[in-house]
Amino acid sequence: MKCRIDPSLCEGHHRCSGLYPDLFEVGQDNKARVKFGEVPEDFEIDAQSAANSCPAGAIVIEY
Ligand code: SF4
Repeated sequence: MKCRIDPSLCEGHHRCSGLYPDLFEVGQDNKARVKFGEVPEDFEIDAQSAANSCPAGAIVIEY
């Protein structure tokens, strides 16, 4: 699984990094970043859950 942020949609309110700090961080530009290129299997459910809970729909999951 791959997970990426669409920076044109991200509103930088830290929900993803607050819920899943092992997976996401928000940079000084107020845009989230994913800490992994390929999401480790143990984090796949969290990545999907983060995508579902991002109010801006900025977290994109790809298989
Ligand atoms: S929850 Fe969504 S909009 Fe908010 S910082 Fe994370 S990716 Fe960006």
